[in-house]
Amino acid sequence: MKQFGLNIWGDDNFILKGNTVNINYANQPSLLEITQAIREKGYKGPLLLRFPHLIEKQISTLFHTFSKAKKEFNYLGDFHAVFPLKVNQFPNFIHALMDVSQAYNYGLEAGSKAELIIAMSQTPLGAPITVNGFKDKEMIALCFIAAKMGHNITVTIEGLGELETIIQVNKEFNAEVKNPIAPKIGVRIRLHSSGIGIWAKSGGYSSKFGLTSTELLEAYELLKKYGLLDHLWMIHFHIGSQMGDIAPLKKALREAGNIYAELKNRGAEALGAINIGGGLAVEYSQHSNNQERNYSLNEFANDVVYLMQEIAKSKGVTEPDIFTESGRYIAASHSVLVAPVLELFSQEYHEKGLRLKEVNPPLIQELYDLFNTIQRKNAREYLHDALDHMESLLTLFDLGYIDLEDRSNTEILINLIIKKAIALLKNEGTDELKKLQDRIQEKYLVNFSAFQSLPDFWGLAQHFPIMPLDKLDTKPTNPASIWDITCDSDGEIGFNRDLPLYLHDIDVGQEEYFLAFFLTGAYQEVLGMKHNLFTHPTEAVINFNEDGEYSIEHLIEAQNLMDVLDDMDYDTNLIDKALKYKIEESQHITKEEKRELLGKLYLYLSENSYLKTIQAISEKS
Ligand SMILES: *Cc1c(COP(=O)(O)O)cnc(C)c1O
Repeated sequence: MKQFGLNIWGDDNFILKGNTVNINYANQPSLLEITQAIREKGYKGPLLLRFPHLIEKQISTLFHTFSKAKKEFNYLGDFHAVFPLKVNQFPNFIHALMDVSQAYNYGLEAGSKAELIIAMSQTPLGAPITVNGFKDKEMIALCFIAAKMGHNITVTIEGLGELETIIQVNKEFNAEVKNPIAPKIGVRIRLHSSGIGIWAKSGGYSSKFGLTSTELLEAYELLKKYGLLDHLWMIHFHIGSQMGDIAPLKKALREAGNIYAELKNRGAEALGAINIGGGLAVEYSQHSNNQERNYSLNEFANDVVYLMQEIAKSKGVTEPDIFTESGRYIAASHSVLVAPVLELFSQEYHEKGLRLKEVNPPLIQELYDLFNTIQRKNAREYLHDALDHMESLLTLFDLGYIDLEDRSNTEILINLIIKKAIALLKNEGTDELKKLQDRIQEKYLVNFSAFQSLPDFWGLAQHFPIMPLDKLDTKPTNPASIWDITCDSDGEIGFNRDLPLYLHDIDVGQEEYFLAFFLTGAYQEVLGMKHNLFTHPTEAVINFNEDGEYSIEHLIEAQNLMDVLDDMDYDTNLIDKALKYKIEESQHITKEEKRELLGKLYLYLSENSYLKTIQAISEKS
């Protein structure tokens, strides 16, 4: 693997410079120097780095691409976009997002009451807010309050029940007032066509959301009857996330476009927008044989604009404004998780670890000779001999004929011989060699929780690009599997022969080695689980000034142990008291020791769950 697939997933956001991976922006600092600068401030454990310039890049690319498509087709409708909050609601992200998007009149999409409050407080007046998902009366009332504040808000109805509530809330808010104001109304349509991939349930006929044609006609009549038809202005659909193939989108666009035109011709004169939801895919792959997306943003924008224009022309209606709610595409690239490697599990398999005796059992001596004399021309034969000896030696141990030191020597020697043989035979990728390679794969224990920081890896086998922060001028040779520090065997990113990851052979006792996980900015943070009580990692926003220098801002440290327990609704006062009492009442220690222990205990309680030291020995279950 060259460059860890940077040319596939990197989108020119990072470059290799010397032996490090650097930000391809401003003065191009390396991720390593930023990481070290933060660690020097005393923050250990995993770090989540946010890069607002990458959010800005995605937003401006989205707007410019649609603007180009509109020009090319001479399209008369406007283009608008909102960010769906469910993809990332964290304040350090949202504040940066609102800051970098000011020039685009970019808005927010909310799917719950709490998200709606974020949207109402963070969106500038005039920028669009869309509200999707299931809504109760209070949520709809909040939409009316937002409209009365002056927000450009559209409430999407997902079912006829919601429309009835809107009619009722409208009466309560507007019957007595001189200047009735209500939110704009959108309808989500239930598509006949459906999305594809693991998220397909979001669209299509079996979807949780949306109105059928029959319900649409009924909604039209209701809106008309209650004087709200002049508020109906948007048709909405969302076919699902990470759309790898463009075909389902085209089908959905034709369906939605025709529904728009039909309703407009029927008398819904205010209707003026099509909201195509999200779904724009991100390329997560590190291997060219496994790419996730078969279209470009250009093709996507051209298809949307062209199809809407065709339908508008053929049905004689005005070209609708186009809204997108892409979330993954906007947020994924903005954050990088950096985590220190704590240990290499087979580091003990070094020649210097051998405990050879004056006189060794004959088979051990033979293994040692094989190791010293193996060459390209005899490699396969020697390898087979070695494997055979290993079986015999392990049996001898079980029967009590050799001791633990002999067994340890066996393990080390067989490992070294396999490694040597693979290196010597590297041009003959036989099945046997590949299997052996899996067997000697190196396990890297990494100071992070996959459940907290890569939940879609755990839940959906979603791959995230991984690469080390330095040594990139050296070819990595260890087939690697990555273990997180949870006590759960699911927290392992195993070595995959078809999509191999190779990392460097290092001695973590001598040097630091960090791994970066890329494209973690969409969905991962809020879906992250506190399994084993590992919480959101320490995060920082990396901004650049006019001179191109970076600064580390808005540092938020991972929660300390007491705050974690407090979040679990433990009474931390009681915990505090219980711990103090047990030290004070202990029969086994002196008064001085007690004072010292209390001091240490309180220091540890103020720190987070992640491991602090470089060389931690951890048991995996
Ligand atoms: C989740 C969601 C989105 C965002 O989808 P992405 O694939 O992240 O772009 C957009 N609109 C709606 C209605 C959603 O539910």
